[in-house]
Amino acid sequence: EEKLLEIKNLEVHYITETADMKVVNGINLSLEHGETLGLVGETGAGKTTTALSILNLLPSRVGKIKGGQVLLEGKDLLKEDKEEIRQVRGERISMIFQDPMSSLNPVMRVGDQIAENLELHNREKRSKEDIENRVCEMLELVGIPSSRRNEYPHQFSGGMKQRVGIAMALACSPQLLIADEPTTALDVTIQSQVLTLMEDLKKKMGTSILLITHDLGVVAEICDSVAIMYAGELVERGSIYDIFEGKHHHPYTKGLFGSIPDLTAKRSRLTPIDGLMPDPADLPAGCKFHPRCKSCMEKCKIGAVPVYKNGSHKIQCHLMEKEEKDGWKIC
Ligand code: SF4
Repeated sequence: EEKLLEIKNLEVHYITETADMKVVNGINLSLEHGETLGLVGETGAGKTTTALSILNLLPSRVGKIKGGQVLLEGKDLLKEDKEEIRQVRGERISMIFQDPMSSLNPVMRVGDQIAENLELHNREKRSKEDIENRVCEMLELVGIPSSRRNEYPHQFSGGMKQRVGIAMALACSPQLLIADEPTTALDVTIQSQVLTLMEDLKKKMGTSILLITHDLGVVAEICDSVAIMYAGELVERGSIYDIFEGKHHHPYTKGLFGSIPDLTAKRSRLTPIDGLMPDPADLPAGCKFHPRCKSCMEKCKIGAVPVYKNGSHKIQCHLMEKEEKDGWKIC
């Protein structure tokens, strides 16, 4: 079956007058219909840039897609013109951000904002009455009484605003929801409620989710699979089982888990790893993680690092060479 989304060899640079920053360095990533994939990594790993590239939303003056493909059901979005991308956005792919106010209009009633979105992408030619019914239905779905449809964003709490954002994003039943740190700004209880809501909606509507987060606890709560990004590359990818129960991990992933022996421990915030992420304008040769890696070998400092695969689990690290007897093979 055709994948919903396939990112192939995506390369993105931010080019300024003084620097050429290699922010995404040839990543390959795919998402099945109905799958929730967590894209995890520290700030600056290239997660948001990857997400923005999917919808051609990179900062226009500096962001340049240098190569690769972003296939939505086989069609390359990077080759579409602005108008077509605008249609895809909102209709087939929606985004929610850390700050719900970045997608809400402060001077417009929340119900009108959802209605406006539906009118903009009215493929099903809904009548005014249908649209109004859908607005109320979406509000109720995210746990907001439809009697509040005439209120303004400032009348809602942070968690409720994010629910409005989700209602707006899902009103047109997109195939893919990209959620960039959607719960980071919320307190823990509300975070959990919003995640549960996203999971419920996914089950009801069959939407796939690309969840960008730095929080492995969030991943454990709702993801089916995980991709771990470092310095613009994917260093590890696997099912939630591979990552949380599996024996083998990329040294960076191990660092993310810290010293927690029980990898299923929920709400484990990322513990800082010694050293800093390299400057994207001056990336080290060889494995990008080598200056911080405690297992670094001579060969890690030069040349490309192979990706090893075992079933659904992939790891880009020379250490996996020793695991060939365990079924790990270069892919
Ligand atoms: Fe560490 Fe080498 Fe693996 Fe990179 S390739 S993570 S430096 S062991």
